[in-house]
Amino acid sequence: MTETDDKAGQPAILIDPIDMSKLDSGFRSEIKNMPDGDEINACFACSTCTAACPIANVWKYKPHQLIRMILLGMREEVLSSEEIWLCLTCFQCQERCPQKVRVTDIFFDCKNLAAEEGKIPENIKGLARELVENGQLYQVTADWEREDMGLEPEVPGLSTDGIKAILKGTRTGKITGGEE
Ligand code: SF4
Ligand code: SF4
Repeated sequence: MTETDDKAGQPAILIDPIDMSKLDSGFRSEIKNMPDGDEINACFACSTCTAACPIANVWKYKPHQLIRMILLGMREEVLSSEEIWLCLTCFQCQERCPQKVRVTDIFFDCKNLAAEEGKIPENIKGLARELVENGQLYQVTADWEREDMGLEPEVPGLSTDGIKAILKGTRTGKITGGEE
């Protein structure tokens, strides 16, 4: 979809034609039947979710457009979109939706579906791998830095072994380990 201004100076929104042959008529039901999709049919395209979103202005597809695309059956476009991964999960859209559409949670569902199909951006995969291998996303400050600050070399009580063991048995562990 593209936004542009017409030559007469009037703002206009031009929507790229939708290739009906590529629509997946089951996608709406697929999302609706997921734990968070109950209210998606109630969306009346008011754009409140987009108005509430702190980063929608840099998204190609805005939150209300993604919801509309799901309703239309644009499965490939939604699951391949980078926006579902850029979502900050701040829940502003979901909090404000007058129709109680669980926008943020639906984007979680879309991420899960995309991941099942191997459509995971490389940077996200890298973060997941870090989490599975080290049990945490950020390494604790090096020993010498802790010493400089007068702290014990090891963080008291910190153990990531349990987290690593759990994650290795999950789908995330398998996907990041290249098993799927
Ligand atoms: S705020 Fe709710 S009803 Fe309005 S466009 Fe977004 S999802 Fe649809
Ligand atoms: S949860 Fe995601 S889509 Fe919703 S307002 Fe926050 S960043 Fe935007």
